[in-house]
Amino acid sequence: MAGEDRLAGSRDAALSHVAYVDYNASAPIRPEAAAAMLEALRLPGNASSGHLLGRQASELVARARAELAELLGCTPQELIFTSGATEANNLALRTASPSHGLLIVSAVEHPAVLTTARALASEGFCDLAILGVDSDGRVQLRDLQAALDSGSPALVSVMAANNETGVINDMITIGTMVHAAGALLHTDATQLVGRVPLELSAAPVDLLSLSAHKFGGPQGVGALFMRRGLPVGHRPLLQGGGQERGWRAGTLNVAGIAGAGAAAAAAHQHLADEQLRVSRLRDRLETSVLAAVPGARVNGASAPRLPGVTSLTITGAPADAVLSAMPHVAASDGSACSSGALTRSHVLLAMGHTDDEADCTIRLSLGHATTDAEINFVISELTSAVPRVRAAMYVP
Ligand code: PMP
Repeated sequence: MAGEDRLAGSRDAALSHVAYVDYNASAPIRPEAAAAMLEALRLPGNASSGHLLGRQASELVARARAELAELLGCTPQELIFTSGATEANNLALRTASPSHGLLIVSAVEHPAVLTTARALASEGFCDLAILGVDSDGRVQLRDLQAALDSGSPALVSVMAANNETGVINDMITIGTMVHAAGALLHTDATQLVGRVPLELSAAPVDLLSLSAHKFGGPQGVGALFMRRGLPVGHRPLLQGGGQERGWRAGTLNVAGIAGAGAAAAAAHQHLADEQLRVSRLRDRLETSVLAAVPGARVNGASAPRLPGVTSLTITGAPADAVLSAMPHVAASDGSACSSGALTRSHVLLAMGHTDDEADCTIRLSLGHATTDAEINFVISELTSAVPRVRAAMYVP
């Protein structure tokens, strides 16, 4: 069996036993990405070598950079390949945070932004303001304006779409306000890229982070978009051989980057169809669950959301018990990053949930390979798991 067939075969086998609704943790690899990676793995060259095989490797990287730029609506030269969005967020904040100015972030950011921002502040590098959110989890423009007016803001970092709820912030208005205050805008768009159209050439965004595995590329590859001519110092996290124009040293992960590029091209090609198909599946899932499960509600329901995400709070049904009661549904009780760490979702708490409500929240996230049959299965599993869990919790 050829390598790519074997990979597709094991993926299909895994999906046939489990309904996979955890795309926000990681989307299944797209066949185009797996094929591009295998092609690249057959090449022995280092993309920095001057010989023929090195040049072939660097051509694969150049092609991937162009494919990713096409998806984002930016130029290839504005992209720095990294090991993922965690590194891209760290690089963005460490590079563009103002020494002795004000860094503004939202309370619902991924830990890769929040923890880095807190570290920069505690190292005495800059001041930090953390913006609260409304009950849908969106940044309040009034609060942002007050923070922008309060000191000498130099960098604002607000996520484009939230990983736990799929709620989308109004980045155009936010970017316009940030620029009017003379500051720069970074956005963690890890969950938005490849799922919603983007045109960075026309957007008031200076830095943007992404991770390839969220749109069907491999894990461990990401990128930072850094707008050309940005007035920031040269502060790379990794120094060495000068790769990525000195912004990210280390031998390029050619196969991973090739996979990211192919995934970007496929996501771009199918974006409109997938957006419509996936949002219909998500809407059907929500409508069916809300009709069959009393006490269930959708978080962020009145805000714009990503097409494939639903965050459900189900009164009296703790998420860990619900997930254990439906072992053939791969879903999440909040974000994958915090679920292992036994911490309550800071996102849900910032949206005003009580501890109890946060504990009773599950996240189902769909994407490019989700089928009708999987959604039927999830609806039937979830609607039968909740009464069983509630009955087991009931103490007369
Ligand atoms: N930001 C967001 C919004 C995410 O959802 C994630 C992944 N959960 C990350 C950053 C980090 O991505 P990675 O783990 O691929 O570096």
